[in-house]
Amino acid sequence: AEMFGQLTSGLETAWNKLKGEEVLSKENIVEPMRDIRRALLEADVSLPVVRRFVQSVSDQAVGVGVIRGVRPDQQLVKIVHDELVKLMGGEVSELVFAKSGPTVILLAGLQGVGKTTVCAKLANYLKKQGKSCMLVAGDVYRPAAIDQLSILGKQVDVPVYTAGTDVKPSEIAKQGLEEAKRKKIDVVIVDTAGRLQIDKTMMDELKEVKRALNPTEVLLVVDAMTGQEAAALVTTFNLEIGITGAILTKLDGDSRGGAALSVKEGNIADFLKDKLGEPVSGKPIKLVGRGERMEDLEPFYPDRMAGRILG
Ligand code: GDP
Repeated sequence: AEMFGQLTSGLETAWNKLKGEEVLSKENIVEPMRDIRRALLEADVSLPVVRRFVQSVSDQAVGVGVIRGVRPDQQLVKIVHDELVKLMGGEVSELVFAKSGPTVILLAGLQGVGKTTVCAKLANYLKKQGKSCMLVAGDVYRPAAIDQLSILGKQVDVPVYTAGTDVKPSEIAKQGLEEAKRKKIDVVIVDTAGRLQIDKTMMDELKEVKRALNPTEVLLVVDAMTGQEAAALVTTFNLEIGITGAILTKLDGDSRGGAALSVKEGNIADFLKDKLGEPVSGKPIKLVGRGERMEDLEPFYPDRMAGRILG
């Protein structure tokens, strides 16, 4: 199924209710706003995100007035489009590279989200931009993960630094970085262990690896199937270890799109706001995975994604 198929048709219901109207008003947007809210919730977008989105759209819709030659339903489509783009981060979020020495990209994420695959895909992607890459096998709990990374590394013709399962991940990371410096590698991509759920051991280990590496990018790999849970996930990882962005995988699957719309805003839960005195947001999606092949990784374009959602 097309990822946003359901969302697209849900939103169409909203526009259709404005056909024949002269102008957007407080009264005639009530029903369409309800449709938009329902469509977003059904697409598994996180509730706080939906609330803020709907509020912002209706505020704008009421204030927009008559625009010559533009029908009210078209006006609403435009407002929703721009708000969707904003929700997904606005501009394309480019990867950042170190000014000197190797750029270190640390990848984090739960088990099975596609982290190991992303390591190799990312190396393949950066190689095409003329950068030399090296992968570091930091997932010491699953020997299979090290083997998998070695195989994928061969496939994309990128060296893989491994040190078995007896060395601490932070130590492996350090050694790998040293090796990369010696070899004058441009980008070092570090794979780390994931767990089925967030736990303290994983976070502590990630913090240690991060301290050892001082990475330019810390990217959280998120499975699109995670849906609205993605909001809490990025927020927690951001609070705990500090991330610079996310990579959304499995966009080719039959997810409903909620994750793509929830990552950037994150989980601005009231209890966190109280605790920290400021809203806690997520981070931009920088790249997306669209399949199992090494070529299936591309930048995330909020504008194109909004276009797809609106059909
Ligand atoms: P890890 O546990 O996070 O390292 O996950 P893996 O990299 O081992 O990936 C788990 C499974 O998801 C593998 O079977 C991958 O081939 C698959 N996978 C990863 N990325 C994608 C993607 O973008 N689309 C699809 N369809 N499958 C993916």
